[in-house]
Amino acid sequence: MDRCSFCGRDKKSVNLLIAGISGHICDSCVEQAYEIIQEESKVRNSFDMKKIKLLKPTEIKDFLDQYVIGQDEAKKYLSVAVYNHYKRLMDVGIAREDDVEIEKSNIILVGETGTGKTLLARTIARLLHVPFSIVDATVFTEAGYVGEDIESILTRLLQAADYNVEAAEKGIVFIDEIDKIARKGDNPSITRDVSGEGVQQGLLKLLEGSVVNVPPQGGRKHPEQKMIPVDTRNILFICGGAFEGIERKIAHRLNTQIVGFNASKTRDMVDRENLLQYIAPQDLRAYGLIPEIIGRLPIITYLDPLDKKALRRILTEPKNAIIKQYIKLFKMDNIKLSFEENVLDYIVDKAIEFKLGARGLRSIVEAIMIDFMFEFPDQNVSEVSVSLEYAKEKVEKINFKRLRAA
Ligand code: ADP
Repeated sequence: MDRCSFCGRDKKSVNLLIAGISGHICDSCVEQAYEIIQEESKVRNSFDMKKIKLLKPTEIKDFLDQYVIGQDEAKKYLSVAVYNHYKRLMDVGIAREDDVEIEKSNIILVGETGTGKTLLARTIARLLHVPFSIVDATVFTEAGYVGEDIESILTRLLQAADYNVEAAEKGIVFIDEIDKIARKGDNPSITRDVSGEGVQQGLLKLLEGSVVNVPPQGGRKHPEQKMIPVDTRNILFICGGAFEGIERKIAHRLNTQIVGFNASKTRDMVDRENLLQYIAPQDLRAYGLIPEIIGRLPIITYLDPLDKKALRRILTEPKNAIIKQYIKLFKMDNIKLSFEENVLDYIVDKAIEFKLGARGLRSIVEAIMIDFMFEFPDQNVSEVSVSLEYAKEKVEKINFKRLRAA
């Protein structure tokens, strides 16, 4: 009796059995094989480097400008780094005529929280067709402690790549809160350094480029779990951190550097309001990052604190600005929503007054709009204009302590 050489079922148990030179295949195995081919080619095509249009740095920045307000310096560095990352990927695998190997340029973004570091990384991800993931450095601890193993940074990248290892190996990882794994103080022996230097050493392995065994489901490695080896040589790492208090280290360095000849002149030129713009590798070292890590993050750039003007623009200008989102929500109920100009200024003033930054803008707008959103959908309203008086009344009722914790 003829049988399918793949599933073993006999002629009677299948609809169709196709004969080959030295075997048979049944209709359901043909279908299954076809699905596998489709899946495979879909994954391959989506990450095919040759099909990627290489955007120029100015084009990358133009794209970032649509979503992120200001932060020109960081955008410029990021655009160039991503552009070079692509060029580097294209160079890999080409028979090399020269001995010039383009080195990876991992980036570190330093800036107060809520100034747009994650937003920049997310926006880059929208633009790119390589796997991308965001991880928080605070969850990682040294092996043997509660927390996740550092290798699980790559788990999320693998997941983003549908476990296509080859694609993940060309991806981008954003590591947030990198400052939280800096060694605290100069004497690490006082308390066990659970999330400090040990984690940095682990991270170093990833940044340098090596083959790392990744737990497919993340978390802690279990002996029975099958690991997936991932080569990190071509993965671009973008790190972000607030580095609270690093201004003091910068100021200290600047002060010691500029004593002597021309000192007073140079000192006058230093913009004391925004010291982050002078950030240099030695400041990160003084903060507690180990030199080897800093060496693997050759591109350092900073984000400006958001002033009133920037916050005001954030409310209305980006492609998915908060105000635009509310207008759209109301439009879906056929209601034309508008805000009096001074309401927008008032929202910004409150965000600054309560030190909520850009993150607070949304909570304030939400507090102003909640009653409208609750009541209007079943009322016959076709137009609403939010007045200053109304906004003030709503905002005064908010519990700002709760907002700040959000
Ligand atoms: P960070 O990662 O620096 O702590 P985020 O990028 O998470 O800050 O910013 C928090 C939110 O604030 C963002 O989702 C965005 O809505 C808004 N935001 C912050 N900075 C900007 C900016 N420069 N342009 C537009 N929106 C911003």
